[in-house]
Amino acid sequence: MSKGQPHILVFPFPAQGHLLPLLDLTHQLSLRNLTITILVTPKNLSSLNQLLSLHPNNIQTLILPFPPHPNLPPGVENARDVGNHGHIPIINALSNLQEHIIQWFHSHPNPPIAIVSDFFLGWTLRLAHRINIPRISFFSSGAFSCSLLQYCWNNLNDVRGLPVVCFEDFPNSPSFKEQHLPTIFRRYVMGGNDPELQMVKDGMIANIESWGGIFNSFDELDGQYFDYLRTTIGLRRVYGVGPLSLIGVSESSKRVDPNIDSGSGSEILGWLDGCSDGSVLYVCFGSQKVLSRKQMEALASGLEQSKTKFVWVVKTGTDQEVENGYGVVPDGFEEKVAGRGLVVKKWAPQVQILNHRAVSGFLSHCGWNSTLEGIVAGVLILAWPMEAEQFVNVRLLVEDLGMAVKVCEGGDGVPDSAELGKVIAETMSLDAPQRLKVKEVRDKAFAAVNEGGSSCTGLDQLVRELHQLKNYNKQ
Ligand code: UDP
Repeated sequence: MSKGQPHILVFPFPAQGHLLPLLDLTHQLSLRNLTITILVTPKNLSSLNQLLSLHPNNIQTLILPFPPHPNLPPGVENARDVGNHGHIPIINALSNLQEHIIQWFHSHPNPPIAIVSDFFLGWTLRLAHRINIPRISFFSSGAFSCSLLQYCWNNLNDVRGLPVVCFEDFPNSPSFKEQHLPTIFRRYVMGGNDPELQMVKDGMIANIESWGGIFNSFDELDGQYFDYLRTTIGLRRVYGVGPLSLIGVSESSKRVDPNIDSGSGSEILGWLDGCSDGSVLYVCFGSQKVLSRKQMEALASGLEQSKTKFVWVVKTGTDQEVENGYGVVPDGFEEKVAGRGLVVKKWAPQVQILNHRAVSGFLSHCGWNSTLEGIVAGVLILAWPMEAEQFVNVRLLVEDLGMAVKVCEGGDGVPDSAELGKVIAETMSLDAPQRLKVKEVRDKAFAAVNEGGSSCTGLDQLVRELHQLKNYNKQ
């Protein structure tokens, strides 16, 4: 361990979209003279390989066994293996690590002076209080959705039961239908007195009571919500440091995504090499979502009618889901579109695909990571928000910024194929009006992480304040 450097405990939540950006942040913290311990359970250790090889002296691991949970199959340690509905049991299972962490802390010769943990691990604030160090929340999603969720928790009785919620004191006063509010809040409202949901809610509130919050976002995208969080919600310290992927592990090591078997990755990129500039639409709905038979058929037909080139990443479901038609590509579709469309049934190198010169459009569910990756790649996003905080992200992109187009909505929504085909054909034209804004926001994303940019300054400030923490006593 490097002597004299402040030591920070980093605790990621084990889901792809949460873990990778926090590892990217950890990379930056380590580059800035902090010593880090990352807490993981055994099956998540391999996700750290690249980072650990970049920082053999500054970063070590604390590997604790994944605590069993009655609603998780034995051996599951990552949301990837169970889908989004696994988040709540995973959050609850991990909270049982508290005593192990305290024991480790007390036996450590140079214990951490702060804990940075994912916003799904809000219970770590209680842990931090017990060992008298500050806890900082890491938000892998944006400040708008964080503000909105916090507003809902703070005004639970007013919001509960409303068919449409108006957020009047928010910038641009958005309103959302009840079914478009963040899933975690809806589950809480519907869940009665379930103690596991209560714990999730308490954790979310603890995020705001924490010493500060770090956001994988940037001023020019989300800045008004950074202010809102500080001034109205009362989060004491807010650091916008994104897009972290631009300054993350893969940027430094140019690594190949460990989830990709290089065969499928190179097949896609090779196929794209044969396409002309900006001619291809990339279709992918994140790491979890499996589409129903109706959705698959409507989407396939829309792609066919668009007459546009495409790469469609299809997530296949469990055997049971496949039997019910989930994630099943309609018979004969691949043959019909041969040469024009590529259907991929494996994990795809999304970032590389989005940045390929042939790709200029992205049909996406608008998970926050996909959103940022689309922005950074400068592609026009065709949005189909489905769940979680995706409706909030889409409101920001489509209505507030005018840089994306909504094509469908809802986890069970089925697009009108003819309409979808038409919108794809129109928006894939390189003079679609939204593309000017796409370029502007992309340029701002790059500027934010460069020397003197808002995210670079935010990161510097965070690190400076972490260095000053040595004499912390629950400020
Ligand atoms: N991803 C990928 N290949 C795939 C599917 C997803 O690389 O085949 C990555 C994608 O680049 C993004 C993450 O998985 O970084 C998905 O995160 P996001 O927040 O967009 O959605 P979620 O999976 O959390 O719904």
